[in-house]
Amino acid sequence: MKFISTRGGAAVSGAEAIVRGMAEGGGLYVPETFPSVSAEELEQLLSMNYPERTAFLLGKFLDEFPQDELLATLNAAYGRFEGEDPAPLVRIEDGLFLLELFHGPTCAFKDMALAVLPYLLRKSCERLGVKEKMLVLTATSGDTGKAALEGFAGAEGVQIAVFYPEEGVSKMQKLQMVTQDGENVDVVGVKGNFDDCQSAVKKIFRSQECRDKLREKGVLLTTANSVNIGRLLPQIAYYFSAYCDLVTSGQIAMGDAVDFAVPTGNFGNILAGDYARRMGLPVGTLVCASNRNNVLTDFFRKGVYDKKRPFYRTMSPSMDILVSSNLERLLFEISGRDSALTIERMRSLANPGRYSLRAEELKALSQNFYAGYASEEDTVECVYEFFEEFNYPLDTHTGVAMHVAREYCRKRAEDIHAEPRPMVVVSTASPYKCPQAVYYALTGNDVKDSFKGVKRIHLITAMKVPESLRALRYKAPRFKTVLSPDKIFEEVLHFAG
Ligand SMILES: *Cc1c(COP(=O)(O)O)cnc(C)c1O
Repeated sequence: MKFISTRGGAAVSGAEAIVRGMAEGGGLYVPETFPSVSAEELEQLLSMNYPERTAFLLGKFLDEFPQDELLATLNAAYGRFEGEDPAPLVRIEDGLFLLELFHGPTCAFKDMALAVLPYLLRKSCERLGVKEKMLVLTATSGDTGKAALEGFAGAEGVQIAVFYPEEGVSKMQKLQMVTQDGENVDVVGVKGNFDDCQSAVKKIFRSQECRDKLREKGVLLTTANSVNIGRLLPQIAYYFSAYCDLVTSGQIAMGDAVDFAVPTGNFGNILAGDYARRMGLPVGTLVCASNRNNVLTDFFRKGVYDKKRPFYRTMSPSMDILVSSNLERLLFEISGRDSALTIERMRSLANPGRYSLRAEELKALSQNFYAGYASEEDTVECVYEFFEEFNYPLDTHTGVAMHVAREYCRKRAEDIHAEPRPMVVVSTASPYKCPQAVYYALTGNDVKDSFKGVKRIHLITAMKVPESLRALRYKAPRFKTVLSPDKIFEEVLHFAG
């Protein structure tokens, strides 16, 4: 399988797409075609466990990677997750399910792919005969950073530098990052919000001068952000896996459509659901849920993407994003894979800051997606009521998705022509990851200290506290640097040695 860029140019192998991270000129790699999963193959997936399902699906894209080796890697990667199943589907009530993706080492769904990416990168470098040291640059809205650090810490021939918005992550998220062990890691706070952080990192990527300076030091750049296709592909598996679990538990018959609601920021998670549909999974509606930074809600409703708007810090910080990178991949598909048009839209997004869809594109999108958002009050309400009703503590990101999912389900119930369909809400983080926000939502009270928050949530809910967060309490911060966005290349050069 080859991969092409959303902005045109020659097709490359999977290994090359992974090593490069982003294509020339800022384009994103997408599969040249979507491999289909036949009805028989879907049947076969039913009896497999999670790593086997993932190996099967990844193998369809990365056919140059030996299947047995892929499976061994996935077994090892997901073996580090807490519990038997790395992506358990929890039944809440008839027709409503939570897909828990937070049982990995850093307690957020980013682990699903970032536990696997280091292996994919190492193997890709081997295949391509890359001699240079790889430097993985990562901008994070809170969760990618730690998951990437965990994945790459101690890896040979790789360095990883993570940039997070100094004021834009939860205390727990920050503590997870700045206490990271390993000689090959660097963690830097950036003055500004996530968009400032992400655009500063992308600028380094696009700059030939920056790349040349690094190459003089024998260093090649890549990224662990979800623009890297190696992040996206492993995420397709949990949509298939959730579907299979619904079939095997008798909740649906094979072939029935299922809706998924996804708390969305950079559009990586939900895009994997769209890819699963393109491969033939019976996905009904993908519910794109935003917080108060509702640029995507407006996009899906009006067909206009307009990033010129106030930026809000919310209690779901990993979704505080106004420039959603992976949307470029969806735009490329709905334009009929028109790279010239995609380039033009991305240029308009940079300046003047907006672009519009054609009427038929908007119409096509509305058949597959529903978009909505939750205000801060909505999120608090939802987390509180959900606990009252089901005795299950949602994290605040998942609370956003649950609010929008229920809004969508209500609308669907009012439509006499619509058949009822099961709804799977994708749960992206443990409630212990943003404990202060979750404690506030559950009780209306503030708690100053993250660990006190953890303890109190545990007392109220009895949900198990993940080992990795418990251990954090006794770790000393190692990284204290905070820089303005224009200084980060200097830091990168210095770190590269
Ligand atoms: C990253 C993240 C999101 C948003 O996912 P995208 O792929 O960026 O849309 C939502 N919730 C949590 C907890 C996250 O870490």
